[in-house]
Amino acid sequence: MKTFEDYRNHLKKIADINNASALLNWDQETYMPKQGARFRAQQLATLAGISHNLATSKEFGDLLRALNEDTSLSDFQRRNVAETLKEYKKNQKFDAHFVQQLTLAISDAFQAWNRAKAASDFAQFAPALEKLVLLKKQQAAIAGYDEHPYDALIDDFEPGTTTSQLTELFNDVKDQLVGFVKHIAQADQPDDSFLYKPYPKDKQWEFGLHLLRQMGYNFEAGRQDISAHPFTTNFSCEDVRVTTRINENNFNEMTWSCIHEGGHALYEQGLLAENYGLPAGNYLSLAIHESQSRLWENNVGRGLNYWKANYEHLQNEFTENLSAVSVNDFYVAINKVKPNPIRTSADELTYHFHVLIRFEIEKALMEGSVTVNDLPSLWNRKYKDYLGIEVPSDDQGVLQDIHWSHGSFGYFPTYSLGSFYAVQFYNQASSDLPGLEQEIEQGNMQPLLNWLRENIHQHGRLYTANELCERVTGEPLNFSHFMRYANEKYTDIYQLKASIIP
Ligand code: ZN
Repeated sequence: MKTFEDYRNHLKKIADINNASALLNWDQETYMPKQGARFRAQQLATLAGISHNLATSKEFGDLLRALNEDTSLSDFQRRNVAETLKEYKKNQKFDAHFVQQLTLAISDAFQAWNRAKAASDFAQFAPALEKLVLLKKQQAAIAGYDEHPYDALIDDFEPGTTTSQLTELFNDVKDQLVGFVKHIAQADQPDDSFLYKPYPKDKQWEFGLHLLRQMGYNFEAGRQDISAHPFTTNFSCEDVRVTTRINENNFNEMTWSCIHEGGHALYEQGLLAENYGLPAGNYLSLAIHESQSRLWENNVGRGLNYWKANYEHLQNEFTENLSAVSVNDFYVAINKVKPNPIRTSADELTYHFHVLIRFEIEKALMEGSVTVNDLPSLWNRKYKDYLGIEVPSDDQGVLQDIHWSHGSFGYFPTYSLGSFYAVQFYNQASSDLPGLEQEIEQGNMQPLLNWLRENIHQHGRLYTANELCERVTGEPLNFSHFMRYANEKYTDIYQLKASIIP
């Protein structure tokens, strides 16, 4: 193995194995019969082992180091090689024993979390979580970090982002958004009861497909199915699948999960087939992925012009529920701000308090300034402080999310980062495309999709998130864009007397 082509071929092989795993995972979440679970777990473990061996072999490391010194490579080639070498070096730090210990601890924690959640009893999760937190601290120590152990964990999801950057960002969220939402809470609340009338399953399904088609999701290179938790997965940029779920008594669930997953899927469909397996053929980071889903979900899908394009169709499908509701009233209702203990049902603004709380807790856990046993009371106190609500029980509180049982510490912040990037990207698209809002009002999403393809999707992991953001918008991530957007939109919706942001 000597050339860039050897490197590319090796990565293709690894991608083939990983994509085969992804297909088995997709099947597991959608159509696999119950009894398939035991051997499926074994099959996935076998493939994970093969992929790990290919990615960490000594020969591959030698090739990467040689290519990294090769001055004849193009800029594109060099960036790809550097990215893979970085991953390779990181993987090399963890011996098989540690990886095995962590895998076992995660498997135990996941089972304990399931039991604890069903019983709504955190104590049943605590011992397994404690073990996992200890291993995550070890992981941070092995991986290494400059300032904060949490930096090393964030790096798995959002490379280059540090605890101190996030602390600064979430301080802004605390200083600016908490007060703004309290202001909104005092205003008259819109009626959204019509969103919770009966919406028959089949009609919702058809409407969801219509929205996906309108966004530009390519059904020749994907499909939609039902699963318990909506997700997007892909086996190449030419087979990108989404799932949704339908609640017949809640219009919101399917609609926004459809648009959200559609946004993720458009990103994956927009990667270039010729870069299959290369970093350039992979999504950049979780926050950038989330910026694509949030941009469609919130900036487009919760906008008035989007519903000017789609509301008549919707009214015709659900005449009984909506014939007396104007498009303006509908728009106001879908943007109602209401603190809720559950993150995944939060509105566009209070959502970030859910993330803020998890960020503060994870950071404190990694510092050792709080212990696992403190978590339920700490959690409930923060929900009272930031959202003004009482958490009714552990299953609707500290046990609600699966992430910690997977050992995914450092994941949550990417959700908020994604929303903040989304606003900044959308603002840039609006200034690059002066007729954008009129096109959306006509149901024409193509100009926006083309803009995203050109500026974001096609580059894959060729740049860091910061580099991409600067290339696209001329500056790094800047929370003031989100705050200005929130202020304008919700001041209008709630007709607040004065905006609170200068
Ligand atoms: Zn998402």
